[in-house]
Amino acid sequence: MTHPISLGLVGLGTIARNQHLPSLADTPTLQLEAIASRNATLDGVTCYSDIHQMLEGSDVAAISLCTPPQGRFEQAAAAIAAGRHVMLEKPPGASVSEVQALARLAEAQGVTLFSTWHSREAAAVEKARDLLASATIKAVRISWREDVRHWHPGQEWIWQPGGLGVFDPGINALSILTRIMPEPVHLSHAMLEVPENKQAPIGAELRMLSASGTPIDAVFDWRQTGPQTWDIEIDTDSGSIVLRDGGATLHKDGTCLIAAKDEEYRRLYKRFAELIATGQSEVDLAPMQLVADAFLLADYRQTDAFHD
Ligand code: NAP
Repeated sequence: MTHPISLGLVGLGTIARNQHLPSLADTPTLQLEAIASRNATLDGVTCYSDIHQMLEGSDVAAISLCTPPQGRFEQAAAAIAAGRHVMLEKPPGASVSEVQALARLAEAQGVTLFSTWHSREAAAVEKARDLLASATIKAVRISWREDVRHWHPGQEWIWQPGGLGVFDPGINALSILTRIMPEPVHLSHAMLEVPENKQAPIGAELRMLSASGTPIDAVFDWRQTGPQTWDIEIDTDSGSIVLRDGGATLHKDGTCLIAAKDEEYRRLYKRFAELIATGQSEVDLAPMQLVADAFLLADYRQTDAFHD
């Protein structure tokens, strides 16, 4: 076996600790050698306080950015300029155009840029895509409702410009939608509810259409307590297809076809190593474009102040 690709990870927050570190430990083609964190250190790897120190002090070949989307462009651009391959958490940046700029920089430098959509790696997503490839789709309903206090305690960046608010989870639904639909999707209406003391929405209702006119409705809500909902229901001419649990389970006409454990980030890192080995990049901005369009078209409604 060839040597694993050396990797540095930037931003040791919730997702880095819960998913990236254990998944990297299970990926033999990549070797975590360094981290850059403003606050934390990690045993067994070289620790830097920011990405610039890491780029100067370490020769890691690849960088994985687990920081908030605001500021990701500067970090990614610095890594690309230093000749390193880059993997971006979702959403890939704070704007569509800055990620397009990164893609151009990566191409010019001859390095890999991988803009990840972890929910597309959920166990049932590819099966749903296969089933829909040969179906006539009548309607799609998305319901993505979760408790922001549980999932994002104390995170200020999600409420600030570029943080996306409820689209931070909602973009996961859109990443699945744009993967499983056999034709392109565009946005026609959006209603965004913004707390009077915040700059990003806590709730959203979207109307989208497929190229052939199939209606696609989505509700994203961060105020759901109790059971959490991450569902996509699809009516077809030959019955219903339902993805639940963020794409982990699949039912066809009420019968469960897939219910599998979470391998999302292991698959992402395996793919990152493959992209590097084959000299490719992967940057699909379709989910991000729908979010940007929602902000462009939004009918804004002010709602109650939100407090953690
Ligand atoms: P988080 O817990 O706030 O962690 C982000 C980390 O980035 C911080 O701990 C900090 O690490 C670093 N950072 C650098 N500049 C920062 C700044 N200006 N403000 C705040 N943190 C800064 O966020 P997260 O939940 O891990 O989310 C990070 C990214 O992963 C987001 O794009 C998010 O959408 C995505 N994601 C999150 C989840 C989830 O369930 N939380 C799931 C999937 C994807 P240091 O202190 O080490 O510098």
